[in-house]
Amino acid sequence: MAKLSDPITLLKGVGPARAKQFANLNIFTLRDLICHFPRGYEDRTRLVPIEKLAVDEPACFRAMVMNTPRTSHIRKGLDITKVQVADHTARLTLTFFNNRFAAEQLQYGAEYIFYGAVSGDFIGYNMTNPVFEPLDSRPVTTRRVLPIYPLTAGLSNAAVLKAVSQALAICDPPAEILPEPVRQRYGILPAERAYTAIHAPASMAEAELAKKRLVFEEFFVFSAGLSLMRAARAEKRTEAYPNLDMRPFYGVLPFTLTQAQKRAVEDILLDFGKGVPMNRLVQGDVGSGKTMVAAAAIYCAAGNHKQSALMAPTEILAEQHYESLRKLLAPLGIPVALLTGSQTAKQKRTVREQIGSGEVQVVVGTHALLTEDTQFQDLGLVVADEQHRFGVGQRSKLSAKGESPHLLVMSATPIPRTLALLMYGDLDVSILDELPPGREAVDTFLVGESYRPRINAFIRKQVSEGHQCFVVCPAVEENEELGLKAATVWAETLQKTVFPDLRIALLHGQMKGAEKEAAMASFARGEADVMVATTVIEVGVDVPNATLMVIEDADRFGLSQLHQLRGRVGRGKAKSYCILTSHNRNPETLQRLKALCKTTDGFKIAEEDLKLRGPGDFFGSRQSGLPAFRVADLSFDLATLKEAQAASAEWIDTYGTSDAPEAAALRERIGELFQRAEGTMN
Ligand code: ADP
Ligand code: MG
Repeated sequence: MAKLSDPITLLKGVGPARAKQFANLNIFTLRDLICHFPRGYEDRTRLVPIEKLAVDEPACFRAMVMNTPRTSHIRKGLDITKVQVADHTARLTLTFFNNRFAAEQLQYGAEYIFYGAVSGDFIGYNMTNPVFEPLDSRPVTTRRVLPIYPLTAGLSNAAVLKAVSQALAICDPPAEILPEPVRQRYGILPAERAYTAIHAPASMAEAELAKKRLVFEEFFVFSAGLSLMRAARAEKRTEAYPNLDMRPFYGVLPFTLTQAQKRAVEDILLDFGKGVPMNRLVQGDVGSGKTMVAAAAIYCAAGNHKQSALMAPTEILAEQHYESLRKLLAPLGIPVALLTGSQTAKQKRTVREQIGSGEVQVVVGTHALLTEDTQFQDLGLVVADEQHRFGVGQRSKLSAKGESPHLLVMSATPIPRTLALLMYGDLDVSILDELPPGREAVDTFLVGESYRPRINAFIRKQVSEGHQCFVVCPAVEENEELGLKAATVWAETLQKTVFPDLRIALLHGQMKGAEKEAAMASFARGEADVMVATTVIEVGVDVPNATLMVIEDADRFGLSQLHQLRGRVGRGKAKSYCILTSHNRNPETLQRLKALCKTTDGFKIAEEDLKLRGPGDFFGSRQSGLPAFRVADLSFDLATLKEAQAASAEWIDTYGTSDAPEAAALRERIGELFQRAEGTMN
């Protein structure tokens, strides 16, 4: 018997060249091959006499070849091969287009199994390009449910099928990890049967069952992994913070916290008092005031002589957090530093020294915080802002920098409950379901190009009232083909032809870090009236004086992304507006955009987005930090996900973190899946 970890070159017919083709599909071992699941099936189970073949209904039939195949060359690029076949019920003419090599294999007088559909015309029935094989061919491709595999250049479906069948014949499929009672309760096939049936199902129904089992298994492994992570952390100890006095902090706040903010801060203080590392997600719509919650946590950590690190996904955001934290905390005697990739080597060195010596209590930064050479004196708290951009892996990398520091992650993406459970199964959650008082909803409109003069007039009106505007474009540079508005060109057009008297600023992702910073800071100081930008401004940036956002070619963005963008306005006291423009007349697209005009509830929008586009797009596939599931599809398999989650919770209750043999196999699978999650993130 071969092992799952053995290389596929063990198989007959898999030499170095074949192996290279398989490598293109990330298949190296027998396990990879057995886990290379079909993307679909063709039901070739039905076998009928020729007489019973129905028009346009593909089926198999057994027939004898009645003459020698004859090929006529019709013209350049068109060969037609015809051959007569018959069974005891009828005769049939088969026609092959440009397929003489295959068709001429048919031996006069021999019997074959054919698979195809007849088409009817005035002259009678005929069949074009049927599939056929000798009665004794192995592996068979007819009279069965044929798996259709994801392929790569040079590798045919038959070649994959052959390799997979061989692999299954010489080694056992992955071990059973689902306990019998779980399989019983959820109607789940045993592992051995499922791994065989997914590649060679007896029927379409069995293929479905096999797939369900494998989806279930995948979700089960993932949620068990999150639960084990959580359990392992619950066993960790850290000193409980003795000083939970927040009065000095509240004393310097320019406003009182909302009820939701207060609840979140209380959750955090409770965590801090426990002596167990906190793992908390603060989830709240844009503008709900997450930064203040983070600031409160940081203040408390500092009051207990612990350092804090706040990690943001972009430099602009890091800089803005740095500014607001410094303003708040410096008067309280808490030094704050900034560490980003675009600082000079010298600046970075200085900050790192200050962090290492403990001279600095709070550091705000980007991924630069994750590098080896950032060492803390005593890191007590890690805050990750806009969490959806950080995966499970990065979360743990930063935590590894301290002695089990507390972890606070903040997400502005209202994630549908089911997905939140999946992504944050290892976290406790505080929800900010309330906006600070005095916020009015941002009025949102969807308009076509004919409204251009009115849009321009509206921009002018806002500016004349002393406010500022954002204009968001989907691209940085002009793209003739797509005809999309490009930030650079559009900024120039607006400045030259529409608003020569206004101050137009530009911000896009191709600008250098320092340039971006300067542009954003200058706009925040009110030194420009209109900022033309790409989605760099999507996350977190705060300019309370901005009251209008125009989003050009809005159909180019996802709903959740539009909602995030819109969150950049309506952050001050004045009434704010968002105008979506689109040339797109597709009713579905318009319906999608109209949904955004109707509601400002981020959770509703997220659900809608999930329904319309699926979770891959929803998170931006590479940003989610979720593992690349092999079989599971989050948009279709949510019901199975729920079952698997319940089952894995029971499993953990039963076996816990003990060394039961069942746990060993599962733990190995968890390790494998999480490793794959790392891979998709970098
Ligand atoms: P987000 O949740 O999107 O990160 P921020 O933390 O950036 O939101 O807060 C948005 C704005 O609301 C900021 O200008 C902040 O100063 C302000 N803010 C936060 N909390 C309150 C509050 N309780 N009352 C009034 N304004 C607040
Ligand atoms: Mg924020």
